[in-house]
Amino acid sequence: MCSGYEVDFKALNRDIFGKEPEDPLLGNYLNFYIGHSNEYHIRYNSASGGLVTQLLIFALEEGIIDGALVTKMRKDKPLEPEPFVARTKKEIIDASKSKYCPVPANIAIKEILDSKEGERFAVVGLPCHIHGIRKAEKINKKLREKVVLHLGLLCSINRNFLSQDYLFKKFNVKKEEVIKLDYRGKGWIGGMTIALNDGTEKYSPLPIYWTQILRQYFVPFRCTLCSDQSSELADLSFGDIWLPEFRDDKIGTSLIISRTKTGDKILNEMKFKNKVNLKKIERYKVVESQSYPLKFKKEYLDARITLLKLFRKRTPIYNQKLLKPNIITYLHALLIYSQIFFSSKKYFWWLLEPFGNLLDKISKIKQKIH
Ligand SMILES: Cc1cc2nc3c(=O)[nH]c(=O)nc-3n(C[C@H](O)[C@H](O)[C@H](O)COP(=O)(O)OP(=O)(O)OC[C@H]3O[C@@H](n4cnc5c(N)ncnc54)[C@H](O)[C@@H]3O)c2cc1C
Ligand code: SF4
Repeated sequence: MCSGYEVDFKALNRDIFGKEPEDPLLGNYLNFYIGHSNEYHIRYNSASGGLVTQLLIFALEEGIIDGALVTKMRKDKPLEPEPFVARTKKEIIDASKSKYCPVPANIAIKEILDSKEGERFAVVGLPCHIHGIRKAEKINKKLREKVVLHLGLLCSINRNFLSQDYLFKKFNVKKEEVIKLDYRGKGWIGGMTIALNDGTEKYSPLPIYWTQILRQYFVPFRCTLCSDQSSELADLSFGDIWLPEFRDDKIGTSLIISRTKTGDKILNEMKFKNKVNLKKIERYKVVESQSYPLKFKKEYLDARITLLKLFRKRTPIYNQKLLKPNIITYLHALLIYSQIFFSSKKYFWWLLEPFGNLLDKISKIKQKIH
């Protein structure tokens, strides 16, 4: 079922939506929305507007599902994620917020398969998780019947576990002292909170630790070969709304793409019962909000695949149209693989900051010329 080997987008789209997508950037869709949970603490303590958490609670309380595959950080090993099946409101809330590290969501699928007859579940995952689950459902009838809702997160890239070591080094934190790690939360945009065993906390806003410190370092190799930014095979996809008009939002708003009638119906029922605030938006706003990640996945990917094939590396087989590469996309590919290489060797870490500063200067000069 590994989506790193093959994803037949055309066939899966036909199975799920009854047609191949006409939109090369966002896949099949019904509507685009922005919205947020109407429960303040859910909205404030989630990644974006708390829509995923609120929707799972609603589906559980309305009897649409009996549980949901979600991911929390482990209590005994706070730097490791733990996918599990949540069956209560508290468990769903405990698993809210984004985890920017690899998550083995497949380990909880056995629990779904072993559940009582008639029980139904939602799964929450990144685009690559949803690919794997949809592929598994294609050959396993029981799984297909049990999973009734697929909630996908938008995803540009992830980070490997070495990124934790690098951040702790930057923040002067010893790994053994960490008792809790949150990658998001505390309003919007929110940031990383590292709770230490002496009762203190270190906090770094997302734009600082994600953009200025981690840059494009520590990206898992697989993410450079990913063609799906918006969870194209989900019932509903959820992301942040990266638009200037939301700059002053301090609590959080989500971007939502509804793709199936099941997903769209639940969203509108939640609105009707005043659980969420929901407003339709136009497609161009979604594209504007995700402009760089969409370029990275849809326009620049072919260059990376071509480059890797030159080096006789194996690449995934997608039955999907990608945009044609050009000289800039090849240069971009070389740059990203060199950043991944240098960040993978601890003895090169001293280079990462000055190299990042150099790239910033080049980009400023480029902007001036334009
Ligand atoms: C690696 C990663 C990259 C992302 N990239 C983008 C992006 O480029 N653009 C964008 O707009 N949004 C991106 N997002 C999505 C964004 O961070 C939020 O998750 C999304 O907006 C949902 O917000 P929410 O408040 O509704 O979710 P919440 O109510 O906080 O719930 C989040 C749900 O997602 C689950 N979850 C969290 N992390 C993971 C994970 N790693 N794997 C599987 N399940 C997980 C949680 O268990 C929880 O159920 C990314 C998320 C991740 C994890
Ligand atoms: S970029 Fe693609 S492969 Fe990487 S975590 Fe996101 S969805 Fe998965």
